[in-house]
Amino acid sequence: MSNEALRQELVELDKKYYIHPTSSLQDQQANGPAIIFDKAEGVHVYDLNGKKYLEGMASLWNVNIGYGRKELAEVAKEQLEKCAYVSSFTGFSNEPAIRLAAKIAEMTPGDLNGVFFTSGGSESNDSAYKLVRHYWKVKGKPEKTKIVARKRAYHGVASGSTSATGIESFHDFTTSLAPGFVHVDPDSPDAFRKLIEEEGADTIAAFLTEPIQGAGGVNLPKEGYLQEIRKICDEHDILFIADEVINGFGRTGKMFACEHYDIVPDVLLLAKGISSGYVQLGAVVLREKLHKELIELSSGVLMHGFTYSGHPTACAVGLKNIEIMENENMVENSKVMGDLLAEKLTELQKETDIVGEVRHLGLLGAVELVKDQETGERFAEKISAKVVLAARERGLILRNVVYWEKDTIVYSPPLCMTEDNVNEFVSILKEAILEVQKSL
Ligand code: PLP
Repeated sequence: MSNEALRQELVELDKKYYIHPTSSLQDQQANGPAIIFDKAEGVHVYDLNGKKYLEGMASLWNVNIGYGRKELAEVAKEQLEKCAYVSSFTGFSNEPAIRLAAKIAEMTPGDLNGVFFTSGGSESNDSAYKLVRHYWKVKGKPEKTKIVARKRAYHGVASGSTSATGIESFHDFTTSLAPGFVHVDPDSPDAFRKLIEEEGADTIAAFLTEPIQGAGGVNLPKEGYLQEIRKICDEHDILFIADEVINGFGRTGKMFACEHYDIVPDVLLLAKGISSGYVQLGAVVLREKLHKELIELSSGVLMHGFTYSGHPTACAVGLKNIEIMENENMVENSKVMGDLLAEKLTELQKETDIVGEVRHLGLLGAVELVKDQETGERFAEKISAKVVLAARERGLILRNVVYWEKDTIVYSPPLCMTEDNVNEFVSILKEAILEVQKSL
């Protein structure tokens, strides 16, 4: 069967049977899947016809070490053959989970030392909400239940994490959000202070934030914002939860984004880069004080756990992924290549008429598209989708964000990027932007 015949067959099966996550059901029926991926190596992915793309999003902000690392396949095979899966419930344990927990405790900031495993970011979020509420309950403050999150935040699609998310379209999808979530202005510590006055600190369990908002458009925190929030939390006995599902594991040029701001959260949420997407894995990390208090005060069974919490094969892959990231200085590379990429993208402000602000930290960044480079005014009909499509046709995969006033292209390529990859990225994006600019 030719590759094209295979593709045709798969398109028909896809349309008939495969319900895709976060995708338009109608588009799928009208057009079939946009790309059926076949193989991948380094920063590149290939479709069934062999067309090559630079993966400018590291897929879903997660393939941090890049594709095709045989070492991960080898440890997975070894672990699958030795002992594919065992439960971690009721006193059972396994070496990869134990060692990965110890490794995460060692590498995370401050005294973040207690590790609860999940299979992904939504599970990490929902687990954290339950754990902090349970914590306040055993501390004799069961009325401290509210989770305060920021507008524009993305925290996942489980019941709690959908409710914590501050992007309306995710709320509109469902008819009943979980109770106990409140959203504040994303930039103003004063808005949080005011909310505490209105709601009462004795009703608030935690403040939840991505240090740098990812899916909401790569929004960097205003100067001093996170430090001020940390201070307010301390003053009012409110826990600080940092969702580093995208930010963590080198994405921003440090191992964890909190390190840029010199803050230690009480709870750190991880997924994505923890395994570079090779297997499903996530974690909730608690500061030692919380962990100890839970040990002292919580009686009976911790009534929360997933079948795959501490999955030995997933944890073995996670450990090897971190080893590669450290041995090959990928975090430093994320900073160096991230700065170079942003510098070259900023030059597009001069070389095109429609590139506005470029912002980044490490290899997490965004390019704003504007009608007027002086005033920052945007086009009435947002154009970032057109640029993303034109770039894809030329072999660069990106994503756009059009919520609120935004018309933004976001990027998050693998951390193993080279200077050649940076040049390839910029030259394709420039061509795509110029093509769209001409059509306006
Ligand atoms: N938190 C953040 C900051 C995310 O960006 C995401 C996913 O993009 C999630 C949580 C949810 O993770 P998952 O899709 O693995 O459930």
